[in-house]
Amino acid sequence: MEKRGVSRPLVDVRLKQSAEGTKVALTCSDRTAVMSIGQLLPALRSLTNSVVDAAVQREEKASRKISCKVGCGACCRQLVPISVPEARELPSLIASLDEAHRDRVTARFKDAISSLQATGLWDRLRDLAALPQQERIALAMEYFSKGIPCPFLEDESCSIHENRPLICRQYLVTSPASHCRNPGAETISRVSLAADVFQALKHIEAPERDRPRFVPLVLAPFLKLEDDESGQAVSDWVRRLLAEIKRINDEKIAEMRSSEATRHQDASMLEQSVTPDSATDGSRP
Ligand code: SF4
Repeated sequence: MEKRGVSRPLVDVRLKQSAEGTKVALTCSDRTAVMSIGQLLPALRSLTNSVVDAAVQREEKASRKISCKVGCGACCRQLVPISVPEARELPSLIASLDEAHRDRVTARFKDAISSLQATGLWDRLRDLAALPQQERIALAMEYFSKGIPCPFLEDESCSIHENRPLICRQYLVTSPASHCRNPGAETISRVSLAADVFQALKHIEAPERDRPRFVPLVLAPFLKLEDDESGQAVSDWVRRLLAEIKRINDEKIAEMRSSEATRHQDASMLEQSVTPDSATDGSRP
C-alpha cells in the first residue's frame, strides 16, 4: 500500500525489556522538536506494537494461544472507536490507497452509512462519546447486531493492516474465535497489555476538554474535526503519555485488587510495567 499523505516515523517509542523491568525507550534525534500529536501517531503505533508483542510472548510462555489470525474478522463488525488524531488522518490514509482499493473502501463506507441511516443509528452514533457508559455499551451492542463490516475489511482481513487504528492493534483474545461472533464479558478473554496507548492518547490529545474524545471509525471520514494545533516538544508528549499510562494502570490495579475475579498476574504485570527509560524521562532535552 502506498503511504502518500501519512506522516513518517520521525520519532520512535517502544518497550525495552531489561533486568530492571519493562521500560519505555524514546529514540529521537531532537527531542525538543515541536510536533503535533498527529505527527506522533507513527511512534504511538510503534509503541503499541511493542506492547502487544510483549503481551503475546507472555501469553505464549504461559501456553495460552492467541486466537486472532489472518482471515478472522469477527471483531471488525464491532463499533470501533478511534482517537481524534487518528480520525483526522483517515481521509488522507484513504486518499493514499491505490485507486481500486480506494474505490472499494469508499463504496463500503457509503454502504455502511446507508445502513446506519436506514436503522436510525447514524445520528445517535455522532454523540457516542458524550453518552453515559451504560448507554454507550447498549448502543455498541445494537450496532454489532446489525453486522456492518468495517469498510477496511476485505476477505475477512484488514486491508490497512500497517496503518490500522491503535484499538485494533490492542484487541487480542485467547478465548475461542467462535465466541467473537457473540461477544460477552464471560465469553471473551482479552489479552492484558502493559500499556493502554489508545486510552492514554485519548486523554492527552485535548486535555482542556472535560472528557476524552473518540469517534466511531465508520463515521470518521464524514465528521468535521478542528485542525490539529497541539504542537509541543516531543519530550513533553512522551512525558505526558507515560504519566497517563501510569494513571490508567493505577486505576486498573485498584479495580483488580478490589475484584474477587482478580487475576493477580495481571495486576502485578501492570504494577511492574512501563517506567520511563532513564534517557526517556523528558528531564533532559
Ligand atoms: S481497521 Fe482493520 S482491524 Fe480495524 S476494524 Fe477495520 S478491518 Fe478490522
